[in-house]
Amino acid sequence: MRDLEPGLDAEEIGSKMSDFVAELFPLCRSITGDGIRETFHRIGKRIPLDVHEVSSGTRVFDWTVPKEWNIRQAYINDPDGRRIVDFRDHNLHVVGYSTPIEARMPLSQLKEHIHTLPEQPHLIPYRTSYYAEGWGFCMEDERLSQLQEGEYEVRIDSSLEPGSLTYAECFLAGDTDDEILISCHCCHPSMANDNLSGIALATQLADHLRGLRLRYSYRFLFIPGTIGSITWLAGNEERVKRIKAGLVAVCVGDRGHPTYKRSRQGNALIDRAAAHVLKHSGQPHRIVDFSPYGYDERQYCSPGFDLAVGSLSRTPHNEYAEYHTSADDLGLVRPECLADSFGLYLSVIDVLENDERYLNLVPKGEPQLGRRGLYPPIGAQGVGAELMARLWLLNLSDGQHSLLDVADRSGLPFRDIKEAARVLSESGVLASAPDGGNTR
Ligand code: ZN
Repeated sequence: MRDLEPGLDAEEIGSKMSDFVAELFPLCRSITGDGIRETFHRIGKRIPLDVHEVSSGTRVFDWTVPKEWNIRQAYINDPDGRRIVDFRDHNLHVVGYSTPIEARMPLSQLKEHIHTLPEQPHLIPYRTSYYAEGWGFCMEDERLSQLQEGEYEVRIDSSLEPGSLTYAECFLAGDTDDEILISCHCCHPSMANDNLSGIALATQLADHLRGLRLRYSYRFLFIPGTIGSITWLAGNEERVKRIKAGLVAVCVGDRGHPTYKRSRQGNALIDRAAAHVLKHSGQPHRIVDFSPYGYDERQYCSPGFDLAVGSLSRTPHNEYAEYHTSADDLGLVRPECLADSFGLYLSVIDVLENDERYLNLVPKGEPQLGRRGLYPPIGAQGVGAELMARLWLLNLSDGQHSLLDVADRSGLPFRDIKEAARVLSESGVLASAPDGGNTR
């Protein structure tokens, strides 16, 4: 029986995660380059981290690791020499992977390279051009519409050259080689919910779990989206077989209610564990089916792998107005929401860690709980959850049903059934089933 919450302080956890989001916010990350490297350097100060470099041009399944992109500065000056867009003000102003340019051009030509959000005129959009070389700027539509005709000066001081893709992993060895995967993408520049909240959650979770004795081994992947998970999968095909369950951590800091997106398998242990935890979380939530769009679950759940990996988030990425804009800022991510998400992840992991099958050692008739001090007095409210958890567990502990099965069938929270298993085992009426580990 494993207790994952010794001395847990939700407020402290929330403020630690929130501080880390704020620390990482200014860095200009991309799928390669020094911004993502510096992000890994900061994560590495909090948890043990192996950082890997994979050369540009490396074939990874149907993809190729791209050139490495770095940027130093970028700006647009208007015909009067006034700086109207500056990368230093906000790194979303430059389209990710923009090739270098230094030129003068009329407004009409410049506009072909400027992206705005006419329906959210006060926000800067987030745009990238990873796999089609080009350059561009992003700005507020309300400012673009005010620009005067004339010749503009444009400069992007960037480099797009052979280099490498960087990813990082934190591995925590457990009692078995079977692994639980926690994956988050780290390739977005200054946006807080997508993707810094996921990075902060994965880092905090790794930091918390590394002090505990665990049944499973845990692999935390910090990767650029899509190309990073494909690169990891391509380099670790043998290891992939050990992954028994996983979660993609993304958009976990906003005020929205939790959402779980099922794995492609749909009814894997991770799907059941997440659904169970949300049902008993005491808050509104949604469970949505797998679809081949979203984040790195697309790769983990591709048919060649079909891993039991779902995604536990708050508001799904395409459903909040601030998504992929400058409004996904530090105000959108709340410490208490980060802490709540952390608690949900820990509860799911608690189910995975403790979901075992037990045997009722007194299966003929009910064991006489009263003489063992295990039959609480039945008060005016009727039979309490404590007794029902014990009775359900004894009844279903025939070696076929795991604690999660018992919890789901009884309608009681997993933690109650787990506590009943502890008490009944101590009193000698229940024991772990031989080969009782549940990794279905
Ligand atoms: Zn995104």
